Amino acid sequence: MDALLYEVISEMAHTIQVNKEFLTELDREIGDGDHGINMARGFTHVMNKVNLEDELSLSDALKKVGMTIISTVGGASGPLYGSAFLKAAMAVREKTELSGEVLDILLKASLEGVQERGKAVQGDKTIIDALEPAYVAYTTAFALGQTPIEGMKKACEAAYEGVESTKLFVAKKGRASYLGMRSIGHQDPGATSTLLLLQALTRVLER
Ligand code: ADP
Ligand code: MG
Repeated sequence: MDALLYEVISEMAHTIQVNKEFLTELDREIGDGDHGINMARGFTHVMNKVNLEDELSLSDALKKVGMTIISTVGGASGPLYGSAFLKAAMAVREKTELSGEVLDILLKASLEGVQERGKAVQGDKTIIDALEPAYVAYTTAFALGQTPIEGMKKACEAAYEGVESTKLFVAKKGRASYLGMRSIGHQDPGATSTLLLLQALTRVLER
C-alpha cells in the first residue's frame, strides 16, 4: 500500500495509544469513560490488519481501515469514524497518492461520512466541531494555492479552536446529551480525538 498512507495510519494509531487515558478521562466527565479505550482498541486492530506490503490501492486501504474501525471500536464513535474512512475510500477510488487535492477530497468525504451517519451540526459538541472547521480551513488554503502542509496546519489550528469551543456548548448528540446543561465546561472527547488524528496526519506530512 501507499507508504505515506501507511505512515499516516501508524502515526494515528500511535497518538491514540499515547492519549488513550486522556480521551477516556474526558469521556468520564460527560460520557461513560470509554472513548480512549474504544479508539485504542480500534487502532490496535487496524495496525494488525494493514501492512505496508499489502497490495492495496489508496481506496482499498482506507476501506480496510474503515471496516476494521466499525467492527472493533464499538460505542458511538466506531460507526462515525468508520463511516468517515469508508466515505473517504469511495471518494478516492481513482486516485493513487496523497496529493494536496486528494487530502481536500479526503477531508470533505470524511466530514460527509460523519454528518450522514450522526446527523450532528456544528455546536452540537461532537466530532463535527473539530472536523468541519478543519475541512473549511484546509479547502480555503488549498484554493488559495497553499501547500498541503500549510493547509493542514491551518486545519489543525481550526480544529483546535473547534475543540476549545466545545467547552461552551451543551451536548446535543450522543451520551453527553443526557447531561444537558451539565455538559457545559467540558471538552468533547470525540472532537478531541479528531484533532489528534488531524495532527498526526500533519506531522507525517511535515517529515
Ligand atoms: P459512546 O458515546 O457510545 O460511549 P464514545 O465514547 O467512543 O462512544 O464516543 C463519544 C463521542 O462520540 C462524543 O464525544 C462525540 O464527539 C461523538 N459523537 C456522539 N454522537 C455523535 C454524532 N451524532 N455525531 C458526531 N459525533 C458524535
Ligand atoms: Mg463513551
